[in-house]
Amino acid sequence: MMRPETIAAQAAHRPDSATGAVAPPIYLSTTFERDGDGEYPLGFVYSRSDNPNRSSLEHLLALLEGGDEGGAVAAAFASGSAATATVFQALAPGDHVIAPDDCYHGTARLLREVFAPWGLDTTFVDMTDADTVRQAVRPNTRLIWAETPSNPLLKITDIAEMAGIAQSAGALCVCDNTWASPMLQRPLSLGADMVVHSTTKYLGGHEDVTGGAVVSAEDSEVFRRVRLIQNVYGAVPSPFDCWLTLRGIRTLHVRMPAHCANAGRVARFLQDHPKVAAVHYPGLPEHPGHDVAGQQMSDYGGMLSFQVAGGREAAMEVASRVRLFVRATSLGGTQSLIEHRASIEGPHSETPDDLLRVSVGLEHPDDLIADLGQALG
Ligand SMILES: *Cc1c(COP(=O)(O)O)cnc(C)c1O
Repeated sequence: MMRPETIAAQAAHRPDSATGAVAPPIYLSTTFERDGDGEYPLGFVYSRSDNPNRSSLEHLLALLEGGDEGGAVAAAFASGSAATATVFQALAPGDHVIAPDDCYHGTARLLREVFAPWGLDTTFVDMTDADTVRQAVRPNTRLIWAETPSNPLLKITDIAEMAGIAQSAGALCVCDNTWASPMLQRPLSLGADMVVHSTTKYLGGHEDVTGGAVVSAEDSEVFRRVRLIQNVYGAVPSPFDCWLTLRGIRTLHVRMPAHCANAGRVARFLQDHPKVAAVHYPGLPEHPGHDVAGQQMSDYGGMLSFQVAGGREAAMEVASRVRLFVRATSLGGTQSLIEHRASIEGPHSETPDDLLRVSVGLEHPDDLIADLGQALG
């Protein structure tokens, strides 16, 4: 068995057989030659349907989430949201979905504003409580959507438990694994049927390419629908997007431990600070999801959020005073970002007004702590 570190570092790539190029070439061609019989001897037809850079990325993502024993398959998309929407589209009008009440706000918007009118019925529940999820199951429940750690409160959902509930209900369990990345958590090995990623975040890792993916434990009927929708809708990444994402993944296994170590240091600093009312980081023993996170993750991740004593004004002020942190949305890159979350989520947001979300980057943790220290005053 090849270890994930080795798979990532080599990006499942051998030197190009035509030229010996060690780094993969970018194949911009939109179309591929047929032979005299009208067949496609090398398998590629048209770039929306498949192209060499995308198929390399999909192969690598399948290996990282599913292991190199084989079986797992992946489909890459132009964004995490396109990947998410494709999973919902693969269901049928009239189906029922159970989703976490604090899922990524774009996912909630898809369910409420696009797929409710289309015919999907969604119940939003507190997924940290398995009984609540069990009670929400209906005869037409087809999908349990989990997201762990969650955004922005870092709640932890027990993936194996959700997969068990889904299985007994005859439903799928799909996990948004964006925040953990396959280096820290492999939902397929815990029983999930499919994993969704925004590769814009840790997989790409450098804040320079938008993308998404659906990875399935097997080439199942629902995955074949995902493939169909990928092809006929065409929300696909460009060859260069795929190339950049692959390039980012080569260092994923080196970046993730550094993100986790830095986030742990920042979380402990914030926890002891008198102007901080609460810190949400699953690596802290006081975090309600600490034990479950310890079982299903190999480390606690690079994301945290904290609440500033003094409410919204005080939180905005801290965000305005940082010098090293960049005030911006998104996460998972080398630079640390800080964001007042409620104001980006809009009027329906249930995120506390005094909460700042932090994506801890790869700077020296002492510099990050000094910056937060001066910003908190
Ligand atoms: C960013 C994000 C998404 C959406 O991905 P995009 O690439 O921005 O479309 C979905 N889920 C989670 C958890 C995210 O952080």
